[in-house]
Amino acid sequence: MPTIITHTVVAVAAGKAFSEGPMPRNFWRAAIVSSIIADGDVVAFFFGIPYSHFFGHRGFFHSIFFAFLLSIPLASILWEHARPFPRQWWQYFLFFFLIGSSHGLLDALTDGGLGIALFSPFDNHRYFFPWTPIVVSPIGLRGFFSQWGLEVMISEVTYVWAPLLICLAAFRVVIRKFYKHSLITAGPAIGKIN
Ligand SMILES: [Zn+2]
Repeated sequence: MPTIITHTVVAVAAGKAFSEGPMPRNFWRAAIVSSIIADGDVVAFFFGIPYSHFFGHRGFFHSIFFAFLLSIPLASILWEHARPFPRQWWQYFLFFFLIGSSHGLLDALTDGGLGIALFSPFDNHRYFFPWTPIVVSPIGLRGFFSQWGLEVMISEVTYVWAPLLICLAAFRVVIRKFYKHSLITAGPAIGKIN
C-alpha cells in the first residue's frame, strides 16, 4: 500500500480542489476516513485470515464496490436534509466514492504484496496495473522508519504527490472559471454538525 500519509494527502488535496469556501471539520474527517479505511483490513492478519482471502488485506474492503457502499452513509450523515437526495447529496456521494476508490487504484500501482480485489465481490481476482512505480509500503511502524520506508516516501512524492497536486491545481483553476456552481459547498445542514 502507499502509506496512510499519501492516502490522506490525496483526500485533502481532492477536498481542496472540489470544494468552495470553508468546509466543516466533519467533511475533512469523512474525506480522510474514506481514503484510509480500506487498510483497516490488515486486522485480518491478526485473526488468521489469509492475505488471499475474500476479507484478507487488499480484498473486498479495497474494492470499488466497498467505496460505493461506504459513500452512501458518509454522504447521508453529512447532508441531512428534508428533501431526499438533493443535488448536494450527490456531490458528497460522488466525492467520497472518488476518494474511496482512489485507495485501491493507488495500491494497484505498488510493486509488491498481493494485487487488489478492485472488482470484488463480482470478480475476486487481485489486480495490479501494468506499471507499478510506487514502492510498496511495509506493514507496521518499524519497517516504515528504515531505508525501505525512505524509498517508499520518495516514490510516493514522485509518482503521487507531485502529479496529483499539479493536476488538481490545474483542475481547480479550470472548474472555478467555468463550472464554479458544481463545486461542493458546506450548505446549511453540514454546517450544524461541525
Ligand atoms: Zn491499501
